[in-house]
Amino acid sequence: AGDLDTAFFAAWIEEIARTVGVEKERLTRLDAAIGDADHGANLDRGFTAITQALAGTEPDTPGALLALVGSTLIRKVGGASGPLYGTAFREAGKCLGDASEVSATDLAAALQAALDGVQRLGSAAEGDKTMVDALAPAVRAMSRAAQEGKEPGEAIGAAASAALAGAEATVPMQARKGRASYLGPRSVGHEDPGAASTALVLVALRTVVTR
Ligand code: ADP
Ligand code: MG
Ligand code: MG
Repeated sequence: AGDLDTAFFAAWIEEIARTVGVEKERLTRLDAAIGDADHGANLDRGFTAITQALAGTEPDTPGALLALVGSTLIRKVGGASGPLYGTAFREAGKCLGDASEVSATDLAAALQAALDGVQRLGSAAEGDKTMVDALAPAVRAMSRAAQEGKEPGEAIGAAASAALAGAEATVPMQARKGRASYLGPRSVGHEDPGAASTALVLVALRTVVTR
């Protein structure tokens, strides 16, 4: 019951593209403080390309759709976040395989695969002030809810709240990975842009599931 189909995942990606478009200035402002002021533009370029790709083809499973999202991000977005987000979506897609519907348990496993991919590639741990600080608590919240037998909607709500709190918690951290780490202690006092965009991605998922 409440399982998620390809149309749901397509709506999620559309909602991410829409909110990245709305929030790109905020993301770029966060990156201006501790990076090179391109994070919003990077993601907007990637999700605009994804929207165009999806207008031309309709993948027939959630896994195939997420794989397309991942490879487009890798192809179109440079810097740190392109390969990291690209890997996250690709690994999530691979984890879902060719299933046509996704349960809360499947989604928890896919999010875990995304996190594993990000950490394999970027070797950031929690506390390093990166997207991992939003994604890891979201994965934990989703897994816990799925284990408790919650419906996808409730599990996603918990994951989105955890991601928002995780992003907020990067403010007092000192960056140990990525460009922001070059600032050393001067990276303290700013929200990490990648953690903020990860929260946006999970909030978009919540928006679509509560429609
Ligand atoms: P760039 O830093 O190359 O300009 P972006 O500005 O698009 O790339 O993305 C920056 C974000 O990428 C950071 O805020 C951080 O969340 C994330 N990031 C950077 N390095 C890593 C890493 N090694 N592991 C996980 N996330 C990282
Ligand atoms: Mg940047
Ligand atoms: Mg850059």
